[in-house]
Amino acid sequence: MPGIDIQLAIAKATPKKPILEESDGKVTDGNVHYCKGVTVVRCPRCGTILTRSHHYCWDCGQKLEWKEGK
Ligand SMILES: [Zn+2]
Repeated sequence: MPGIDIQLAIAKATPKKPILEESDGKVTDGNVHYCKGVTVVRCPRCGTILTRSHHYCWDCGQKLEWKEGK
């Protein structure tokens, strides 16, 4: 269904705010361990752990919106 693919592409190209959560000390991503209190950034679409340097989710391609005043 091409129509669905187009809708998904538009949804991914529309920036979404990443999910920011505070690590409980048990969050790991590969060999990276997030200490308690550290802010973990997650993709709002698939939940993959990202960093603030990501403008797109490397897993699902969701564009991310960073509300940071200049
Ligand atoms: Zn994602």
